[in-house]
Amino acid sequence: LAYADLSTGELKVTLLEEKEEAFSELSGLQTREIVIEESKLPSIHEELVKRLDVLLSPAEMNELPNSYRFIIEDIDEPECRHVIQLLVSYLSKTQMRQLDHLKKAERYYPSHFLKMGQEAKRNLELLTSLKDRSKKGTLVWLLDETKTAMGGRKLKQWIDKPLLSINQIERRQNMVESLIDHYFERNDLTDALSKVYDLERLAGKVAFGNVNGRDLVQLQTSLQQIPALNELLQGINKGEWDHLLKLLDPVEEVSQLIEKAIHEEPPFSITEGSLIQDGFNEQLDQYRDAMHHGKQWIASLEREERDKTGIRNLKIGFNKVFGYYIEITRSNLSKLEDDRYERKQTLANAERFITPELKEKEKLILEAEDRSVALEYELFQAVREEVKQYIQRLQKLAETVSELDVLQSFAVVSEQNHYVRPKFHDEGQTIEIKEGRHPVVERVMTEQTYVPNDLVMKDETTILLITGPNMSGKSTYMRQLALTVVMAQMGCFVPAKKAKLPIFDQVYTRIGAMDDLISGQSTFMVEMMEANEALQHATEKSLILFDEIGRGTATYDGMALAEAIIEYTHDRVKAKTLFSTHYHELTVLDERLAHLENVHVGAVEEKGELVFLHKVLSGPADKSYGIQVAKRAGLPQSLLARASEILTALESQPSIAEEAEQKRQGQEEAAGQLALWEAEETDAPKKSTAVSDDMQSLLNELEDLPVINMTPLEAMNALYKLQEKMMRNRKR
Ligand code: ADP
Repeated sequence: LAYADLSTGELKVTLLEEKEEAFSELSGLQTREIVIEESKLPSIHEELVKRLDVLLSPAEMNELPNSYRFIIEDIDEPECRHVIQLLVSYLSKTQMRQLDHLKKAERYYPSHFLKMGQEAKRNLELLTSLKDRSKKGTLVWLLDETKTAMGGRKLKQWIDKPLLSINQIERRQNMVESLIDHYFERNDLTDALSKVYDLERLAGKVAFGNVNGRDLVQLQTSLQQIPALNELLQGINKGEWDHLLKLLDPVEEVSQLIEKAIHEEPPFSITEGSLIQDGFNEQLDQYRDAMHHGKQWIASLEREERDKTGIRNLKIGFNKVFGYYIEITRSNLSKLEDDRYERKQTLANAERFITPELKEKEKLILEAEDRSVALEYELFQAVREEVKQYIQRLQKLAETVSELDVLQSFAVVSEQNHYVRPKFHDEGQTIEIKEGRHPVVERVMTEQTYVPNDLVMKDETTILLITGPNMSGKSTYMRQLALTVVMAQMGCFVPAKKAKLPIFDQVYTRIGAMDDLISGQSTFMVEMMEANEALQHATEKSLILFDEIGRGTATYDGMALAEAIIEYTHDRVKAKTLFSTHYHELTVLDERLAHLENVHVGAVEEKGELVFLHKVLSGPADKSYGIQVAKRAGLPQSLLARASEILTALESQPSIAEEAEQKRQGQEEAAGQLALWEAEETDAPKKSTAVSDDMQSLLNELEDLPVINMTPLEAMNALYKLQEKMMRNRKR
């Protein structure tokens, strides 16, 4: 996969093993157009268009034009060279303009960053919200206090690619901390940053050759801020800024050139003059002098002509068609004795004249003007070319300034929201978060305040099984951890009182029951596919969020799958896993699974009403509270009463988990007995398998049930009656 951002000239390349990795990269890049080799098209075409909603452009492989050969200089792997070649030859063919600003391709490794699939990024609402794909309510919305357009873009890149190296993360943390500690300097810094224009795009325009005077002035204004930024950072530097300061190059050659050459307020157009400063070019100054003197001469001619003719409102004007003229109102025409005047144009209440000497002066002025405009254009082109020599330095500077912008944004947001600097450790996967909060939910809450929660998972605990009523905050608690991990590994501070974290290598999520309608897959299918992604690829250093797994199908197989997934995660995957469920029957698993711990989100019933506490407590929830939630939702009283009745009946039965456990034990015993029999080779008579009469009549009844025509409730009642009969038979 190679990608280019034409506005900034960035060109990167990587090798990916799997299709899913490609989808994840493409969605993170917020891709607009995908160029794909014609021969590869049929296999992946439909899926790309459906899942990413992008423009797909088939392209043929062409020779790389000579002038672009430098782009692949540093790239060794043939696959990478191949894909860059395809992209660049496509670009040079379709863009029809210079691409001088394309940087050398840079090889990158997704494995150097926290890996998050497309689903995880979407579910965690990092860049777009689930609700309406807007920015509001996302992590980028929360963290974006950047002052420059390029800072905004860099922030998105950092969110998409949190780091894995503790050193790199701590380097960012040190800079953020330094900015938090120096409030006044930070304010000056943000002020200076607000005056910096989009250097990356400006460099792109310079390369494209379509930069105008105003762009150059913007470039100069931006460059002028760099010394101030430098000074501010030098002032607070205790070593943490060394690296960045080295890269903060004010590119003085460019700012001095623009200052000398370009007018402070140039017009939008570059072909009409008034672009170049006086004193920059001698010839231009001479033309300007001629124009200036000519105009002065005309002004004095006006005075002289008034005196001569005694016409006080005589005036000299100019238009593009007739050039300079003397205008005399109709009522004054009689005062004109002189035949020096040649009539040129008649208006409703005035006549316009010229004189030979006026014509002569006009020629001089207009020539000077034409020449100066042409010369200005030439000079401007030369300045533009000169600036072009500095593109690479400008691009590096842009990169550095955008990083600085993101770091100050982290500092501002962290301070405003009372975030704390997380500590990383590399001994096992222990997580210790004190009074953690969900950064976005707490920000958008208006009526109540957010209830902070601890999250502690020792190295030996891999699964937290979270129970509690619907709407109590299970999902929020889980997302809270994932967002905290993402923020921490980006180098930002985190919403907690204290946080100690390991480095995670990947984050997987199976959250919410959003139908993936676009790609036409059913909710349950998507649910299983996402679960599969996690189970197949997660490592002991990964984080998995499983929210209500198995609810997309019937109760029994849903619960069976949930339990099996927990066991598999526990025994084989061993990733840190938060598993929320409303099957509170699953909570008995902690007896069997040593690394599973139960927690629940507290709720209490007050005067028959359910009150959510949003507090996560240890141990399992006592029940599911489904009926209480239904009551809050306002379902009819009689329906709720009936549901309670059915629930009581169901609860008097052994739970599914208990039954499964009994069955498992039964099978183990049977297997043991069988082994015993085989060993002893006895001829013991087989147990009678004949069915009693009572049982037979029950079976007949079961056979006759018109299941297809029954409602689920009728079926359940019928089943319940059969069961009761069976129990009575047993007792007899
Ligand atoms: P669940 O997953 O248990 O169904 P959610 O996590 O979706 O519940 O939470 C439901 C709502 O409860 C959230 O939208 C939020 O408004 C509120 N909530 C969740 N956690 C908290 C908390 N810790 N403090 C305050 N309100 C919370």
